[in-house]
Amino acid sequence: MDNRAQKTPKQVLQSVFGYPEFRGRQAEIIGAVCRGEDALVLMPTGGGKSLCYQIPALVREGIAVVVSPLIALMADQVAALKLLGVRATYLNSTLEFAEQQAIERDMAAGALDLIYVAPERLMQPRMLELIERCNVSLFAIDEAHCVSQWGHDFRPEYRGLVALAERFPNVPRLALTATADLPTRAEIIEQLGLQQAAVFLHSFDRPNIQYRVAERGSARQQLLDFIDREHADQAGIVYCLSRRKVEETAEWLTARGKTALAYHAGLSPALRQTHQARFLREEGVIICATVAFGMGIDKPDVRFVAHLDLPASVEAYYQETGRAGRDGTPATAWMLYGLNDVIQRRKMIEQGNAPIERKRVEQAKLDAMLAYCEIASCRRVNLLGYFGESRETDCGNCDTCLNPPDTFDATRYARMALSAIYRTGQRYGTGYIVDHLRGVSGDRSKSQGHEVLSTFGVGNELETRAWRSILRQLIALGHVRVDDAYGGLNLAPECRGLLKGERNLELRADRKASRSRRARVKKELPPIELEDEPLWEALRALRMAFAREQDVPPYVIFHDATLREMLARKPTAVIELEDLPGVGEKKRDAYGRAFVELIGEHADSCSSRRRKPGRQ
Ligand code: ADP
Ligand code: ZN
Repeated sequence: MDNRAQKTPKQVLQSVFGYPEFRGRQAEIIGAVCRGEDALVLMPTGGGKSLCYQIPALVREGIAVVVSPLIALMADQVAALKLLGVRATYLNSTLEFAEQQAIERDMAAGALDLIYVAPERLMQPRMLELIERCNVSLFAIDEAHCVSQWGHDFRPEYRGLVALAERFPNVPRLALTATADLPTRAEIIEQLGLQQAAVFLHSFDRPNIQYRVAERGSARQQLLDFIDREHADQAGIVYCLSRRKVEETAEWLTARGKTALAYHAGLSPALRQTHQARFLREEGVIICATVAFGMGIDKPDVRFVAHLDLPASVEAYYQETGRAGRDGTPATAWMLYGLNDVIQRRKMIEQGNAPIERKRVEQAKLDAMLAYCEIASCRRVNLLGYFGESRETDCGNCDTCLNPPDTFDATRYARMALSAIYRTGQRYGTGYIVDHLRGVSGDRSKSQGHEVLSTFGVGNELETRAWRSILRQLIALGHVRVDDAYGGLNLAPECRGLLKGERNLELRADRKASRSRRARVKKELPPIELEDEPLWEALRALRMAFAREQDVPPYVIFHDATLREMLARKPTAVIELEDLPGVGEKKRDAYGRAFVELIGEHADSCSSRRRKPGRQ
């Protein structure tokens, strides 16, 4: 970008990115980096982290080096920047040797504003020497939590990055992450040598995302109902724990007329690539994925994220759900949760090969996740609290706010369950314990002589469902442990107070799955007026044509929000497009005329019909 030296960050925001204002603390962060200061940016997914280094890259002299762990996604990010007229590229192992050499020459010649590299690549001696010869404007370390062992996505390559501070003491370093519980934050500062850096903590709230947790019944049918009722024909991500479940879910949805594609590490790289590209480039595609999917994907119009299995931690949950609604319009984070999730997750930790301290960390993270699921008060308050942010008022946009759950005094039942576990020898799983409590006899209970115990049948007033819910909550709350490979239950020290009658226990009364209503209030974009529909479809088709031509996803051309504004304002001259969000100079010049002409054609062909009498 030439003549950059004259432009202020605000001018770059407007002329290159086409946005009128900075969001949140972007201006402060960009100001600090432009002055050459280090910074740590903690901002939720979709908060707008990329601009925090992209704008300084264009304001400061020299080339900005962006460290990113996601080789697969560099190409898309770079393509989007190029469409804005930014001289960006990436350097990684997918490139031919000749291409790499050409890029290195461009770097040395000062012909680039921004380069993306993977950490292992950056730290190669040859690369560091090359960088030393360039004029580097800044280092941006994206996904900085990867440096933390406490974080949920540790990557050893990140540990080497601390050397940048010594080797390039005069180059500002900017670390960015969407994961920031306190221990992770402390470790990032420590491991990257950012003790002097200003910390910019953005609110982690994502007000446009509606958080919901439903009790698991027939999971797939619940998922389908949810999609049909609230997100038909919209893009979404469905997370499952296992590859098999990913594939089965995608097939099942496909058989019911959805465009659903699988994504997991067991698929060939080519197929993964195709599915990801379709998700990005077509509209209304559902991806069924393991957690392997989605990191770093900047698709702004994902309308829902569904979890069919429990995530391992609140950070993982928040990051995954954060992929919904980056464009700021309403989106849903919807999760199913049941007794088996609790057991399965506990067993996975126990059976894993992690060292004992690591297991303890994982247990603690799971406990926080379970507490979130079981909470009877505002989910957003709980989530934000987890990230160290206190919020006084309930949010009004989560299931517990919209349909407050009933609670009941479960002390008596909890004691029955604890006694039953104790009397039967602390080695049976939930199914057996529930049968025992309800007095259902079987071969095993007979042969073990359990039918003569005082706890046999003591709880026959409750249905199996209710007992499973109570056991689930006892486990989630830490009164009961699942710590052998077979899912046998035993008593945790925590339950002592309850057993001795020293304390009471209030539990959530689960609703029947079939009764779970659609949350009452849902902020939605106004529907497209019937008479505007032809133009809306035409605008989208034109956007798609440009996207195909440029080989990029449609939203890289214009976001939905931009098209909506076109629809509302019906600009008649290219110059009017400048006031629309998301239209910078480059895009105005590249696409403005075509869109304005299209709008003009529609105005002509509609005006006669519109003026018919009888319409208000
Ligand atoms: P993050 O990396 O924090 O997840 P991104 O940088 O991808 O978030 O930004 C999320 C979305 O918000 C992008 O589509 C981006 O273009 C948009 N965005 C960022 N900053 C602004 C702004 N100041 N005004 C309008 N939109 C913005
Ligand atoms: Zn709430």
